Amino acid sequence: MKEKKIVVTGGSGLLGRYLKDIMPDLTYLSSKDYDLTNSNNVEKMFNDKKPDIIIHLAAKVGGIFDNMNKQADYYDENILMNTLIIKYSYLYGVERLIGMGSTCMYPDSVKKYPMSEEDIHIGPPAPTNFSYGYSKRCLAVQIDSYNKQYKTKYNYLIPCNLYGEYDEYGKSSHYVAALIKKIIFAKKNNDDHILLFGTGKPLRQFMYAGDLASVIKYCIENEIYDIFNISTKNYSIKEIAEIAIKACGAEHLDIRFDNKNPDGQFRKDVSNEKLLRLIPDFKFTELFDGIKKTHDYLIENNVF
Ligand code: NAP
Repeated sequence: MKEKKIVVTGGSGLLGRYLKDIMPDLTYLSSKDYDLTNSNNVEKMFNDKKPDIIIHLAAKVGGIFDNMNKQADYYDENILMNTLIIKYSYLYGVERLIGMGSTCMYPDSVKKYPMSEEDIHIGPPAPTNFSYGYSKRCLAVQIDSYNKQYKTKYNYLIPCNLYGEYDEYGKSSHYVAALIKKIIFAKKNNDDHILLFGTGKPLRQFMYAGDLASVIKYCIENEIYDIFNISTKNYSIKEIAEIAIKACGAEHLDIRFDNKNPDGQFRKDVSNEKLLRLIPDFKFTELFDGIKKTHDYLIENNVF
């Protein structure tokens, strides 16, 4: 039997690099290979690579300030990439597509937490990542529509926030990456505290990105086509900082909050019941262990 050609968009990103570590034989693409917001480039990619399966990870992804300052870019780029990849997958007879949602696509607030997969459309996404959240919701609508009209077997996974060694440690980084960086710099500068934005009260689920890569591999190898959340324990921003300070060996640091800056959405925890029904033995990396591994990697590799 002919071996399936699996193409991964967004292969140079945080998640793509973890997937490459455990599935090195797939074809990994970055924006340098093809600009997926451009339909000629997308069509060329399908003609060049002739994929049987697409794992679509490419997206414009960033932290809260970047999301608020560049709402149009987040909307345009994500809508274009998703629309074109899904449309051309169908036109070129791709037999399987796994898209990547995000818990940002869920409503800003609901009556009952954690949210489950049926809750996606019951209210608008949070104002702080409204356009990114909507673009992810549109990916879900497009995949659901293709499955209904064309009987495709495409699906999407809905992960919570990610972190890990391969994260982006620049200006638009997510909370855990920014936190580890702040702790490393505070240690270097002999500071006695770190300063965090907001009140520390919002709740967040953060997953080691390598765990999500393992779920994707499991889905491919075990023919899982379901649509489901992938999420971990729900901690407050302050609790995450306390865990990180211990994991980075910086117990001398105080945590201070600058509550002039926005908190963002108060909570957006989603249930992982469906995931655990599909993969009952799945074990998540504990937040302490994942942050410790990430911190040690950054130090050993002189990343800063
Ligand atoms: P990332 O590190 O920001 O990587 C984004 C990837 O998309 C890179 O490979 C980038 O290529 C590629 N890309 C961006 N614009 C492109 C374009 N115009 N044409 C082609 N490729 C383009 O993202 P990630 O954190 O790995 O996220 C992977 C997926 O998971 C995304 O769909 C994201 O929405 C979703 N997700 C992420 C998180 C999170 O916390 N990070 C949480 C939930 C869901 P270059 O390297 O060449 O720029």
